[in-house]
Amino acid sequence: MADQVRDVAIIGGGPAGLSAGLYLCRSKVDTVLFEQELTGGQAVYSPLIENYPGFPDGIPGAELIEKIKTQAERFGLETTTFARVEGIEDGGKVRTLLLENGQVTARAVIIASGRSPRKMGIPGEDEYTGRGISYCATCDAPLFREKVVMVIGGGDAAVEEALHLTRFASKVILVHRRDELRASAYLKERAHAEPKLEFVWNSVLAEVKGDKTVQAAVVVNKETDEQTEISVSGVFIYVGNVPNSSFVADLVELDDAGYIKTDETMATGVPGIFVAGDVRANQFKQVIISAAEGALAASSAQRYLERIGARKAYGGAAVW
Ligand code: NAP
Repeated sequence: MADQVRDVAIIGGGPAGLSAGLYLCRSKVDTVLFEQELTGGQAVYSPLIENYPGFPDGIPGAELIEKIKTQAERFGLETTTFARVEGIEDGGKVRTLLLENGQVTARAVIIASGRSPRKMGIPGEDEYTGRGISYCATCDAPLFREKVVMVIGGGDAAVEEALHLTRFASKVILVHRRDELRASAYLKERAHAEPKLEFVWNSVLAEVKGDKTVQAAVVVNKETDEQTEISVSGVFIYVGNVPNSSFVADLVELDDAGYIKTDETMATGVPGIFVAGDVRANQFKQVIISAAEGALAASSAQRYLERIGARKAYGGAAVW
């Protein structure tokens, strides 16, 4: 890749990264965004986002992301997909992003690398992933028409995706380790009113069995230790997420769960390195919050460039 020093490099093409790109490019800051897969992040897997303002009927995650991306590209955001950043070398005035097949140097970096679904580490999980086990009902629900499927977890993601699955499956069994859902009140209410949705409380998934594809799930009641084998064709796992921060673990400060700590301007302890979205140590993981943090990180990065004399206040090209 070119030796040219970019103003800002963004890592991650979800709502946080794309919003940061939109803000920076609209301010004519030379910006490049790297995304390890396709743009969109976890939000593209949401069948319907009902709490992003401006869309009174809700909007599918993939459609919302496409709109944000189109908006950012209109202002000239340059995006490289399937470009995984494996580390960042801090050279003081500039930072070098280490990619699988090259390096890119930038004056400021915004880390918006998000999170990935957490695996359960149970027997059968790796073996049947893609053969009946899925972490994305939005992607795979149509494969389970008129079949019985199981959803693991009691958070917003599990309930939202279980509700989506009821449009396809004959029955959806939601297994949760407690006797109450963690999901928001609105989702809870809809879940309890859905006739195709059954609940197995105080229980955890212990094993997934099958031959070529999933045939059954073994569930253990935590209070009685009783094991039950339930015939299912699919198992959808939503037991939380892990932050994609290991590639910068030596560079920035992480909290106990691996989320990156920042101040309220999205700045890390390393000058010129900012963080936005789900990988940041914040309490609420929502698309609107990621988008807002992207805008904040972009504004802070811009101020940083002005402070170090790399950019004139109120716009203008880099001066060094
Ligand atoms: P989450 O809120 O962390 O929920 C994870 C669920 O998995 C919890 O119910 C948890 O049980 C359960 N769990 C964790 N480890 C487990 C294990 N080893 N075995 C069995 N169950 C286990 O994760 P999420 O649902 O992916 O949501 C993540 C964030 O995104 C949240 O902040 C959520 O509000 C947000 N989100 C929002 C929306 C929306 O607003 N529409 C949609 C999706 C996600 P406990 O309840 O007992 O802890």
